[in-house]
Amino acid sequence: MDKLTAGITRLDLQLSQGQLEQFMTYYHELVAWNERVNLTTITGFEEVQIKHFLDSATVTLAFQPRTGIDRARIIDVGTGAGIPGLPIKILFPSIELVLLDATSKKAAFLHHLKQELGLDNVEIIVGRAEEVARRTEYRERFDIVLSRAVAPMATLVELTLPFCAIGGILIAQKKGGIEPEVSQAERAIALLGGHPREVKRIMLEEFSDERYLVIIDKVSATPEKYPRQPGIPAKKPIV
Ligand code: SAH
Repeated sequence: MDKLTAGITRLDLQLSQGQLEQFMTYYHELVAWNERVNLTTITGFEEVQIKHFLDSATVTLAFQPRTGIDRARIIDVGTGAGIPGLPIKILFPSIELVLLDATSKKAAFLHHLKQELGLDNVEIIVGRAEEVARRTEYRERFDIVLSRAVAPMATLVELTLPFCAIGGILIAQKKGGIEPEVSQAERAIALLGGHPREVKRIMLEEFSDERYLVIIDKVSATPEKYPRQPGIPAKKPIV
C-alpha cells in the first residue's frame, strides 16, 4: 500500500498496521465483488489506492483543524462501493456513518465489507436520497454530508443539503472546470439553506487532473418541499 501510505502522509494523516490491513481487505473484496456486481471501473492496485482511497481521504482537507471529524455524524449520499464514506470510517473509526445508495446490489457489497472490516456504527441504507431525506431520523441530522460523482451541483445540493444539520457542512467532491456548475447552483444552494464556503483545489502530486472540494455550510433549515419527488431534482434542477 505504498501509494496510499505516501499520499496519506502528505495529508498529515497516519495509517496504523490495522488500518492498512483494512484497506487491503477493502481492495481485495472490491475486486472480487466487481466480477459479479458493477461497482467500479477502477480496479488496478495502485489506481484504487489513489483514485478511491486517497481521493476519499482528501475530504479531510475541508477541516482545519482535523479534530472536527472524530465524533461527527456523517452521511455519504450515493456512496456506490463506499466512496468516500468507508475510507473515512477506516481513518476515523469513532465516527458515526450512514452509507446511502439507491442500488441494493451495492448495498449487499457494503454489508459484506462492513462485516469483513469489523466496523461498527455503520448503517447501510438502500433508497433514493429524495425519499430518505424526508424521514425525520435522517433529515437535518448530520454534521457532515459527503458525496462524490453523483450529480451536477444544482441537483446534488437538493439530494444532500436536506440531510445536513444547521451548522453542518456539505463536502462535494468534483473534477475539472466546475466554475459554471457551481455558479449555476447558487440559487439552489441558497434556497435549500446552504451558503457556499469555499471551492478548494486538491494539490497532491498523485492527481494529474483537477480535483476540488465544494464546501457548503448549512445555515438555515431546508424548506419542507425539498427534496422534490424522486427524479425531479435531476430532471428539473433548481436554477
Ligand atoms: N460515490 C461513489 C459512487 C458514484 S456512482 C464513487 O464516487 O465511486 C453514483 C452512485 O449514486 C450510484 O451508485 C447510484 O446508485 C447512486 N445514486 C444516484 N442517484 C441517487 C439518489 N437519488 N439516491 C441515492 N443514490 C443515488
